[in-house]
Amino acid sequence: MRTSRVVPLRRRMRVLLAVPMAATLTLSVPVSGQIAQERVDLSAVSRIRDEGLNHSQIPELAHHLTDVIGPRLTGSSGMKAANDWTAAMLRSWGLSGVAIEPWGRFGRGWENISYQGRILTPYSQVMPGQPSAWTGSTKGSVTAPVMVVEGGVDSIAKYGTKLRGAFVLITPPRATPPEFKEYERRTPLDSLFAPVHQRAGGQIGWDTLLVKIQKQQSHRDSLVIAAGVAGVISGSGSPYGTIRGGGDWAATNPDAQIPVPTVIIAQEQYNEMYRNVTSGVPVKVQLDVQNRFLSSDLNAYNTLGDIRGTDKPDEYVMIGAHLDSWHFGNGATDNAAGSIVMMEAMRILKTLNLQPRRTIRIALWSGEEEGIYGSRGWIRKHPEMVSKVSAYLNLDNGTGKIRGIWDQSNEKAVPIFEQLLWPFKDLGVVAVRRGNTGSTDHVSFDDAGIPGFNFIQDPIEYDLRTHHSSNDVYDHLMLDDLKQAAVVVAATAYELANRDEMFPRK
Ligand SMILES: [Zn+2]
Repeated sequence: MRTSRVVPLRRRMRVLLAVPMAATLTLSVPVSGQIAQERVDLSAVSRIRDEGLNHSQIPELAHHLTDVIGPRLTGSSGMKAANDWTAAMLRSWGLSGVAIEPWGRFGRGWENISYQGRILTPYSQVMPGQPSAWTGSTKGSVTAPVMVVEGGVDSIAKYGTKLRGAFVLITPPRATPPEFKEYERRTPLDSLFAPVHQRAGGQIGWDTLLVKIQKQQSHRDSLVIAAGVAGVISGSGSPYGTIRGGGDWAATNPDAQIPVPTVIIAQEQYNEMYRNVTSGVPVKVQLDVQNRFLSSDLNAYNTLGDIRGTDKPDEYVMIGAHLDSWHFGNGATDNAAGSIVMMEAMRILKTLNLQPRRTIRIALWSGEEEGIYGSRGWIRKHPEMVSKVSAYLNLDNGTGKIRGIWDQSNEKAVPIFEQLLWPFKDLGVVAVRRGNTGSTDHVSFDDAGIPGFNFIQDPIEYDLRTHHSSNDVYDHLMLDDLKQAAVVVAATAYELANRDEMFPRK
């Protein structure tokens, strides 16, 4: 049993009874040797299930945030609309302390206004695409030859003035092979219980990392600008016409130069152009991409709201997800899914008038895609909260239903979550996994010493299709999965808020 590190609660009880004490102690018993009995309010749990599974507002919330508000790039007008709308919804449900709070100076916002692309030679075809975020606009409609830069951006200078006025392809073509590997949309039980082998991550601070990335990008931008090109065309790296990408964060800095127009097109079309140019077939493109930078307000904002606690109101259980998204689709699975699950969890608790002992606070962050800025900024802005937040629960792995939670290397978390999640086994919540998951907002809490956790979700087609891509839209949301997730989050937050003690820290 030592090998399999996570044992479902009911079997554990049997195990506890069957196996001599010494063995169980090492398994998952906290150092004190006793598994504290968690109080699970089953009547509240069943009311939460009924409200969340039979009277859900997930479809309406999903529709409005994706189909109506659309993409929410940090600093964009879509992000502002999302902050305003989420705050209005939380107020409409009767939450207190609802605020759209600046977490700090983010920089320039950016949004795309229009895009038209066409390959004119060797034959005429539409060139669907999207601009990379924080890049410049063409001077109206530009028709120019396409040229290839071999050896990557650092070798662009060796072309001298040859590239002036041309559209350039800088990265080599990428294969788009068929997907032979079976891709599990739902995680099989045994993989949920399989031990996790995690490489020890090198400890590099976020700020150091982000400054390093921005420096590299700024250097790259100046090389390309100096070459006098009309623009850069990149392949998306994903097959079947999917447009997937990111942005040029260096240009969020209002003092930075505006990068040349940079568009991402289907990998297949990119590879075709590359083959033609490198085999001497002239390629000409007509491109008109108009973007705008927004500098009137360089701050960025989180939406926050509370269900005030009864006898421990100055202690908090926080639930959250990032509200910002990329602009290639409208950020449905990343991360409108997590945002509406957290909103719905608050609506459920408020609708049922459940009164937690500690204050439950929802946080919808911005700046996550650029470096978990919103959650880190909030903690930096509120050092007084570090001792008051008992635990933080995050959701940011797509549209799949919750299957469990990571213990984030906090031994004491395992028996607590196993007992609190137990009532949802029939909904597929089965595992408390040992190990860390990173690069999303719970890390900000974990880094500050506050117990911060990210739920395990079924992958559905997150990595395969929707993550940061043009496919990331409402039609790829699994609404029943999100209803399940809202129920699990509402109940877990409520139970954690009612614990006698604060959540044990690492
Ligand atoms: Zn995300």
